Amino acid sequence: MAKVINCPCGWTTRSDTDDELVKQVQQHAKEVHDQETTREEVLGMAKPE
Ligand SMILES: [Zn+2]
Repeated sequence: MAKVINCPCGWTTRSDTDDELVKQVQQHAKEVHDQETTREEVLGMAKPE
């Protein structure tokens, strides 16, 4: 099942795999918010599409 992340800044992403979702969100958080995000945090924020 695809999962969706809605960042508070308005950015959103979706992926069919947890690995891809985590990678995208970690990259976004680092580049835009200068924050390190753990896999657990990403998956905790994810919602099923
Ligand atoms: Zn953001």
